[in-house]
Amino acid sequence: MFQPLDLPTVLLLHKLSFFVAALCFLYVRSQSRESVGLGFLAIGFFLVAMASTLVAVGKIFTDFEHCLALAGNFAGLVGYSIFWIGMCRISTQQRRRREWLILCLPVIVCVGLLVTGYYQSTGARTTASQSTTVLLLFAAAVTVFSDRVIEPLPVRKALAATMAFAALLSALVVIGILFPDVALVSSRNAFFVSIVCHFAIAVFVLALVKERAEEGLKRLADLDVLTGVLNRRSFSTRLPEHMRQGDAIVMIDIDHFKRINDGFGHFAGDEVLARVARELSVRVRPNDSFARFGGEEFILFMPAAGEGEAAALAESIRQVVSSIKHSIDDQNVVATLSMGLAICADKTCTPHALMKMADTALYASKAAGRDRLTVYNAEDFEKNPALSDTVRHAG
Ligand code: GH3
Ligand code: MG
Ligand code: MG
Repeated sequence: MFQPLDLPTVLLLHKLSFFVAALCFLYVRSQSRESVGLGFLAIGFFLVAMASTLVAVGKIFTDFEHCLALAGNFAGLVGYSIFWIGMCRISTQQRRRREWLILCLPVIVCVGLLVTGYYQSTGARTTASQSTTVLLLFAAAVTVFSDRVIEPLPVRKALAATMAFAALLSALVVIGILFPDVALVSSRNAFFVSIVCHFAIAVFVLALVKERAEEGLKRLADLDVLTGVLNRRSFSTRLPEHMRQGDAIVMIDIDHFKRINDGFGHFAGDEVLARVARELSVRVRPNDSFARFGGEEFILFMPAAGEGEAAALAESIRQVVSSIKHSIDDQNVVATLSMGLAICADKTCTPHALMKMADTALYASKAAGRDRLTVYNAEDFEKNPALSDTVRHAG
């Protein structure tokens, strides 16, 4: 039922698949400048395709079979070394120091085969080159897998597993040569499955580039460009449909911010905004959501904080920010904050209602002279709607 493929067909498939994968890498690289490492992968795949071409040519010019096969092994190992460099760059998005030293590996292996005369033995040549390939593929798999801690893209596991499987196949070929009695897979079949694996590697690499681009877009859509904190839209999506008792919202506004813009220019204003946002964002609790609400206003959602904790945190943040001296044009400028805090007192309340209460409390802070925190108190504001209006006009 299953007709094994002959070696020339397998070599042809090998070349073509690597060639097509390399072209795909080059195409994606030409479309996206951020895809570091794809050029290296393309070169690596081209060299591996060239390796099987040289081996195939060696089968035609039998007088030079061993020399051509050694040249093929060398091209293949240089290809896998460059593949390793490319895979590390794609995975980590950084250059490794002295990564090019890996190119010593193919030189050492092939010079060793040449000097010892083992290059004339197909078994010795294959063992040496496949063992080195195992190392390079496995090292690439480990890098891609371990980098998921810094960038948890879903495709990493599939890519690392495929490279590890390709390494295992090469290892099985070596075992088959060293211990013919325990050969688990014929080298031709292993070679064929390895072609499929490399094609899968190419597909997963392209999927990684796509997932990374999507993550980048999502980040851009969620974050405020100037301050780097959440924007109002993504903040709203993080709020629960119903607030629970103890949930807190703080509205924050920089006092007289227009004066900073008018006195020192918009760029200085931008710097102050970004600095204030940074100081606030590093002080909120891990589960809190903090966002730029608009202009020079920020909003903080503290789930289940309760009045005591929420007020203490807001007050400490206010004091820290007001103690910062922003150095602008050789002058020390202070930016103070007015804040309004509202706590969900009932079993549930809507986010909108809580935000309105916090906003009213913020206006009360403005009316009372700024640089302060006001906690929304239903008795003061609801029983005296005129107070709310007065406060708004004063703000
Ligand atoms: P108050 O104490 O009552 O809050 O007064 P204010 O000056 O802080 O508030 P106002 O609403 O009068 O002015 C807000 C200013 O914030 C006006 C606007 O130009 C400025 N602003 C809004 N967004 C940005 C921004 O991204 N960068 C800079 N530099 N300024 C901004
Ligand atoms: Mg404002
Ligand atoms: Mg303001």
